Amino acid sequence: MASYSAPLRDMRFVYHELFDSSDISALPGFEEATPDLIDAVLEEAAKVCENELFPINRSGDEEGCRYHQGGEVTTPSGFRECYRAYAEAGWIGLSSDPQYGGQGLPAAISTLLEEMVCSSNIAFGTYVGLSRGAYRAIAAFGNDSLKTRYLPKLTSGEWSGTMCLTEPQCGTDLGLLRTRAEPNADGSYRVTGNKIFISAGEHDLTENIIHLVLARLPDAPAGVRGISLFLVPKFLPNPDGDPGERNGVLCTALENKMGIKASSTCAMNFDQATGWLIGSANKGMQAMFVMMNDARLGVGVQGLGLSESAYQAAVEYARERLQGRSVTGTKHPDKPADPILVHPDIRRTLLTMRALTEGNRAMATWIARHLDLRERAEDETTRASANDFVQLMTPIAKAFFTDYGFDITNMGLQVYGGHGYIRENGVEQYVRDARIAQIYEGANGVQALDLVGRKVPAHTGRYLRQFFHPVQSWIESHAFTPALQPFVMPLAKAFGRLQLATGHIAQVGLKNPNEAAAASSEYLRLFGLVALGYLWARMVEVALTHENGADQGFYDAKVATARHYMERILPQTGSLFAAIMAGASTMMDFPDEAF
Ligand SMILES: Cc1cc2nc3c(=O)[nH]c(=O)nc-3n(C[C@H](O)[C@H](O)[C@H](O)COP(=O)(O)OP(=O)(O)OC[C@H]3O[C@@H](n4cnc5c(N)ncnc54)[C@H](O)[C@@H]3O)c2cc1C
Repeated sequence: MASYSAPLRDMRFVYHELFDSSDISALPGFEEATPDLIDAVLEEAAKVCENELFPINRSGDEEGCRYHQGGEVTTPSGFRECYRAYAEAGWIGLSSDPQYGGQGLPAAISTLLEEMVCSSNIAFGTYVGLSRGAYRAIAAFGNDSLKTRYLPKLTSGEWSGTMCLTEPQCGTDLGLLRTRAEPNADGSYRVTGNKIFISAGEHDLTENIIHLVLARLPDAPAGVRGISLFLVPKFLPNPDGDPGERNGVLCTALENKMGIKASSTCAMNFDQATGWLIGSANKGMQAMFVMMNDARLGVGVQGLGLSESAYQAAVEYARERLQGRSVTGTKHPDKPADPILVHPDIRRTLLTMRALTEGNRAMATWIARHLDLRERAEDETTRASANDFVQLMTPIAKAFFTDYGFDITNMGLQVYGGHGYIRENGVEQYVRDARIAQIYEGANGVQALDLVGRKVPAHTGRYLRQFFHPVQSWIESHAFTPALQPFVMPLAKAFGRLQLATGHIAQVGLKNPNEAAAASSEYLRLFGLVALGYLWARMVEVALTHENGADQGFYDAKVATARHYMERILPQTGSLFAAIMAGASTMMDFPDEAF
């Protein structure tokens, strides 16, 4: 049976050593986020995830959520108790504003917590993740009355949040949505319509559920320019703030699905439900994008979390499972066969899983640090640059982490052979759970379109500079450092491909948008691989300063994993580059009727 132990050593490496944690603690409001406090928080979080969330992961998958007559939904055994303990310990509001009862810690830390939660129980993570998204949208666009009424309850976890966009006829294309909202005389609205696939739409974890619903006002323009965002609670709060009268919101069914079975996926009916406008009329997409961007990084971290669990399980199994002998001669003559860890193909698989997972953890932390800089830096220029970086990297993190999340969990299953395919060992659950992350919060193909269509051309390439400049300048300043040659050279080559591909897409995409769209998924992958190449090279730089020091095994493994990345993964940028340059004609000239 798979087990999980939070990768605290690597998290500390990324947080304190790869990046300078003192610049985050120097930000206003983070003075108390000292290295000791951060380490203590991570250790406590690890205990909760390993001892509370992980033990109900498998049973939650077996049992799933249950729908009851009247629209009630119950979560699997243990979820309620676990949720209560998690909320009471303050984990839900870890990075929320102290003004609303939060702990006010950096996003870079809550991202590491999220990774642990997703490694140990991704279904549980969906409930708390959506509350955080709802918190952010209300904090950014809600009026004072909404903030005062709802943010403390979302922070404490007494109430939870949802995000209600999808309708039967409207998935990626939100311009097609039909749910409508009509104004009441008192400034509230009556919201009516059907939503599907709503995560955490109904459950028994909290006393109230706060739905953020996209709907159209009566006079709204067609398409996405006519969408507004409404806050619709399951129970209307009394003047004293407690849940009062039941609102016109009902869960009409639960979806039966491939994975994340302990996360309720609900069909929701809104029947003249009372709601309040968040932000301005017809500007709902702007507010929803705040929530969605936050959620996109969160979904990316789901892929990362499951990659880590799958890696740990695969390593454990590869050490125990005895099959065959090493091709270079018996390694364990005392045993009937050698452990499969001796076989090159198993080692290749494990190192590939590890290189991508640790690289993605570094990238997640890199982005999360920019969330903190964007919010807290004292000067406007730093805040604006951090925002540019986050804008650029969000679709990459979402799609790259989750595509690899699926690939890596699948690699983990392969290490187990048939014992992975059967349910008993728990690793097939990782594959099933990882799959959805490639689809929700904008399918990964749509993330790639966002990258080439919006992020790369934005402000004539201004976002790109936040990535290209640091990478270029790191390569230049380390080009002649002998110990770094095996890392700088492949990085420089892959970075050159990314620069050429970017120029090419910008040029051909202007003339024919199909060219940019056809190249978009390969371009996003190329971008992600180069970003990891840069981070791996920097990790080596840090690791090499520890030669013959304490914890040598950890640093040696970093350098060795980086070599694997540079030699066997980063070169994939060559084939991606070739595919990008091949253009769109093979797929666009193919007659529709021939498919
Ligand atoms: C378990 C689960 C939980 C979910 N939770 C929520 C939730 O909490 N709230 C919520 O509102 N929704 C939720 N969803 C819905 C989810 O966000 C959508 O399924 C997703 O956005 C894709 O929409 P769709 O399924 O209608 O696919 P479609 O939009 O029909 O897309 C089908 C395929 O076509 C591609 N495609 C579509 N348009 C384009 C385009 N213009 N260019 C290129 N390719 C395109 C897509 O990438 C996809 O591969 C959930 C879904 C599931 C399964």
